[in-house]
Amino acid sequence: MKLYTVEYRGETLVCLETGPESLTPLPYADMTELLRQEESTRQETLVRAMAQPRGLPLAEVRVLAPIPNPAQDVICLGMNYQKHKTEAEQFDAQAFTREKGSAVYFSKRATHCPGPGDPIPGHFDIVDSLDYETELAVVLGKDAVNVAEEDAFDYVFGYTVVNDVSARNLQTGHKQWYFGKGLDGFTPMGPCIVTRDEFAQPPAQPIRTWINGELRQEAVTDELIFGVAHILHELSQGMTLRAGTVIATGTPAGVGMGFDPPKFLRHGDVVRCEIEGIGVLENTVD
Ligand code: MG
Repeated sequence: MKLYTVEYRGETLVCLETGPESLTPLPYADMTELLRQEESTRQETLVRAMAQPRGLPLAEVRVLAPIPNPAQDVICLGMNYQKHKTEAEQFDAQAFTREKGSAVYFSKRATHCPGPGDPIPGHFDIVDSLDYETELAVVLGKDAVNVAEEDAFDYVFGYTVVNDVSARNLQTGHKQWYFGKGLDGFTPMGPCIVTRDEFAQPPAQPIRTWINGELRQEAVTDELIFGVAHILHELSQGMTLRAGTVIATGTPAGVGMGFDPPKFLRHGDVVRCEIEGIGVLENTVD
């Protein structure tokens, strides 16, 4: 199943895709309310909508980020594909080299997530090295505490695409990455959430990025160094991951800082992020 948040005639609606390019509004104020509902009740609501589709054409709505205003910061993994880890270390060894073989976790402020077609603010008054990172994002549908690896996917509601937009000068200029990753508009998300049953466990979907039509990133989402089950198990030890949590699992090689010379984003650049099975998230740098 695919779930969307859309704007239609001035209203924001949470919708289920119930036919080709056709939506049915659901009785939720926002996606977080859906994600925090008890699982069996939510499932009944989705099945009912599937049985009684309304047929709102996708072409008539404006698609927003599926979770435009996350209840909490987005959790991120850094350097979670081997080739990307190497390119990051080559760009700035001091900022990116990690001696220990443990996952790099950080938090990304996401006050408002741009959706498909929305601009990415470049913040060029303080940013001289704007970069893109297409990532598989995991969306939780159940509170997770002390989750065993073998049970981890029970807590996953579905998946979406996140662009972990990054200002490399701010990311490397401070000890932590929070500022350089958390500027307004730096978490484009979408176009929809695909429920976990549509994919393998772990998901093995092709992931790609094009900049102005040039293919820059290409990998498969099961190449993660630390996979979804490991992440949910490790983080939920002593930390409650609430339903509605979004976890961006890291980006493959081919980001702008990975090129020599680097290919950073400029005003007017078109960033196209795709994960097969979820869709395309395209934004233009403002
Ligand atoms: Mg990232």
